[in-house]
Amino acid sequence: MYYPAPISRLIDSFTKLPGIGPKTAVRLAFFVIDMNEDDVVDFSKALVSAKRELTYCSICGHITDQDTCSICSDQSRDESVICVVEDSKDVIAMEKMKEFNGKYHVLHGSISPMDGIGPEDINVPDLISRLKDEKVKELILATNPNIEGEATAMYISRLVKPSGIVTTRIAHGLPMGGDLEYADEVTLAKSLEGRREV
Ligand SMILES: [Zn+2]
Repeated sequence: MYYPAPISRLIDSFTKLPGIGPKTAVRLAFFVIDMNEDDVVDFSKALVSAKRELTYCSICGHITDQDTCSICSDQSRDESVICVVEDSKDVIAMEKMKEFNGKYHVLHGSISPMDGIGPEDINVPDLISRLKDEKVKELILATNPNIEGEATAMYISRLVKPSGIVTTRIAHGLPMGGDLEYADEVTLAKSLEGRREV
């Protein structure tokens, strides 16, 4: 189907977003064309500044616009417990729950030999060096309840065991194959409460 080039480019851009198929991309592109210009400019600025101004916390890997994220710099948080998650979105899901007052470590993925992703490809080496410095007593492995998440949790727990740090795995009130970020707050809180040593 023929579209003027600027619309084609816009449609192509929308198609790159997750969950947006060709039809939705066309609908969104035409919606943008009908928006008022100020709103479109604001929208495009928001996209660019989110990309340019955000970085990863140098300690935990969570998304931040500072060198150190607000959680790592918060002195009132318990530094003896680190909750290991796959993604920054999982930190936000945990924070919404308001039950956890420790620190986090964001892996940015999970170990997946099928896809050629090993421990060195995710934020595991930083976690290990962090455990040497900080006064950590417990590591809560809150990777997703799917094959890769389980494999990642197992790998980290074996790696950490000799150091004497207790590793716990969140309980499975969470649906297997699911994603931490989509769990409701009650399920996530129960899952954290019911964690057991691995
Ligand atoms: Zn941080």
